[in-house]
Amino acid sequence: MELDQVLGRLAEGAKQVLQADAATVCLLDGDDAYLTVTAACGLPAGCWSREPIEVACSLLDKEALSGHPVIVADTRADPRAESVPGDYLSAMCVPLIHEGSPVGTLHVYALEPQRFCEEHAALLTPLADVGAIAFAATRALEALEELSTSKTHFIHVAAHELRSPVTVTQSLVRGVLKGYIGELTDRQTEVLVRISRRLDFLESLVNDILDLADVESLERTWEERPVLLNAAVGQAVLLMQPRAEEKGLEMALRPCRRRLVVWGTEEGLSRIFVNLVSNAVKYTPSGGTVTVSLRPLDGEARVEVVDTGIGIPQEAIPHIFEPFYRAPNAKALDEVGTGLGLAIVEDLVGRYGGRVEAASEEGKGTTFAVTFPVYEPTE
Ligand code: ADP
Repeated sequence: MELDQVLGRLAEGAKQVLQADAATVCLLDGDDAYLTVTAACGLPAGCWSREPIEVACSLLDKEALSGHPVIVADTRADPRAESVPGDYLSAMCVPLIHEGSPVGTLHVYALEPQRFCEEHAALLTPLADVGAIAFAATRALEALEELSTSKTHFIHVAAHELRSPVTVTQSLVRGVLKGYIGELTDRQTEVLVRISRRLDFLESLVNDILDLADVESLERTWEERPVLLNAAVGQAVLLMQPRAEEKGLEMALRPCRRRLVVWGTEEGLSRIFVNLVSNAVKYTPSGGTVTVSLRPLDGEARVEVVDTGIGIPQEAIPHIFEPFYRAPNAKALDEVGTGLGLAIVEDLVGRYGGRVEAASEEGKGTTFAVTFPVYEPTE
């Protein structure tokens, strides 16, 4: 809940509990010199503004901020009532105190005089205490969200900055390996091939970290809408086809005749299927097959990516969605991996209300099944 909403509820609660005619919440600025009306309830429009009020000029607030409730029995006869808005004839003001320091004030107003007494103050003070806690918690949450956004931004910038030198170095090393600057000895070739493989790893790590940061930050900007599953799955297969051919794999797509529509973002769904299909291609040795199918099942949309590859050891299956986890048989392969792809997949699938499951037998192959609720437009 946003700060304005929290304070709005506090003003409403105060007005209701005391059966007052109006209530306002004011917050202190950083120097404790000015107060700003941040929420109001029951006050006629034009009767209040968000213009900062100097604490020194508002005797009512000044006194309450010293730590105790202030009651004005009749605003016509009390000099502290100068800051009372409208035609209200009685008022009460209690401080909002958090961890021993005042953070603002809570006011209630009534149209008749002599409306508030000590009993009312005893009711309003605990409400103000709860309000101050809610205010502090909301502020802390806002600060945390800001921190998380800057953390994601930092990761994004750092990964981007790393990507270009890695790509440039990789292409230079490939050039040297191709003999562009002269013939290499066997030993030199061996070392450069090793460097090139480490650079491959670094490149995919940077890309996966960017993907993770993107999912956190871009998901908020990607537009959620009905997405045709056939298209998203088909594109992923098309994208991975050249790599499958290069490896000597047979790749088959079994689309669904029915239009299966799910609620999500095109970018997110595309990342899910590209990750799963590229894993299937990566972990299936030459001569194997990768089959991607799509069908409705029990009122849901189910996509299966089945391969005849190296499989996943049973004891590793519970860990494969953990960030950076890689099964021992995958690590032993001559394939680059970071262990981040499936963490991204699981996060995205969850955002669209779906689930992802893996079934596998080591040495025989793996099936990843993703299930989404079918999107039914409400007319
Ligand atoms: P990466 O492929 O970069 O290692 P992922 O997060 O995509 O990372 O996958 C995590 C682990 O799950 C892989 O390292 C591998 O052990 C296992 N895995 C994923 N997909 C398959 C697959 N199709 N066949 C065999 N193992 C797989």
